Amino acid sequence: MSGYEEQYVKDAFDSNWIAPIGPNVDAFEKEVAEYVGARGAVALSSGTGAIHLALKLFNVGSGDVVFCSTFTFAASANPIIYQGATPIFIDSEPESWNMSPNALEHAFEDAEREGKLPKAVIVVNLYGQSSDMDIILGICKCYGVPVIEDAAESLGATYKGKASGTLGKYGVYSFNGNKIITTSGGGMLVSDDIEGLERVRFWASQSRDPAIHYQHSQIGYNYRLSNILAGVGRGQLKVLDERVAMRRTIFDRYRHALSNISGVLFMPEASFGISTHWLTTLTIDQQLCGVPVPNIIDALAKDNIESRPVWKPLHLQPLYSRCSYYPHSSESISGKIFESGICLPSGSSMSENDQARVIQIIRKCLLGRMQAAM
Ligand SMILES: *Cc1c(COP(=O)(O)O)cnc(C)c1O
Repeated sequence: MSGYEEQYVKDAFDSNWIAPIGPNVDAFEKEVAEYVGARGAVALSSGTGAIHLALKLFNVGSGDVVFCSTFTFAASANPIIYQGATPIFIDSEPESWNMSPNALEHAFEDAEREGKLPKAVIVVNLYGQSSDMDIILGICKCYGVPVIEDAAESLGATYKGKASGTLGKYGVYSFNGNKIITTSGGGMLVSDDIEGLERVRFWASQSRDPAIHYQHSQIGYNYRLSNILAGVGRGQLKVLDERVAMRRTIFDRYRHALSNISGVLFMPEASFGISTHWLTTLTIDQQLCGVPVPNIIDALAKDNIESRPVWKPLHLQPLYSRCSYYPHSSESISGKIFESGICLPSGSSMSENDQARVIQIIRKCLLGRMQAAM
């Protein structure tokens, strides 16, 4: 917490707006929309819910197909299944680790040949970095297919000066506890399509028709954000820029200390934008370093430091193993990153001393072993 949250939460208590509507919700929507430069925003109970209702706006339903980045968290694709549709997974490219325009083009060519274009494309901006949106939007426009930008991990990042999450028709942010700013749980859908956002607001509020007697003509959802949590979000938004700066500093320190070790490659920052470096991620080549990633995770864990592998690509998940997948080239980039990738502790409040401990253990793992082999 930043310290700014308590006043907004107190306002909610004082005014007795303990509900999924209220002044904090309205203000939080307005403030996020202003921050990212979108015309409007709808606060929701999760990023997952925001993806779900964005798919509903495109009328995605049973028998439909949706393209989705494979290198992501399961929540990017699960709403496709909620709607009874089928995902087709698209690989990453090496420059940004995000959606490969190459793979996307191939998927479209096949889809057109088979007469079954997707209803939408979900592009994920991973670990704080935007995808190459101009190229991706260009391809999607050629086929007349709209784009949902899953920017759950990239609030605060930019693409060619624009806020990540505002390039697609709809953008999704998450305020889950692990994200750069949090409401403990929550999400936001942003867009310039005010009419679409109003429909999302309606669906998220149980689709109550404008009648006093609780009348419903459509299926509804209970997807709104609490006015208390929106207060937390308002306080958090005030320190988003500071946090981006902190996460970038943390990334730079790791890079400075580790990138000269052969076989260590940090997630590249593509020239088209500025990454928040939500998480510092890197790959460690076992052939060159002589140490597999699980050994490093274990060595850190022995000192009570938590690190993790990168996201397991969705086309490799048991849940999605029967779905089609388009690799970047003859090589599957996301699969390769998964085999050698690691996420390091990256919290905005991590001290320099704590980071030095992480660095020391990793250097010992990697250099100790190499020196021993000589
Ligand atoms: C966190 C996350 C989501 C889901 O957001 P929730 O608010 O947790 O539902 C979706 N996509 C990605 C890439 C995420 O990291």
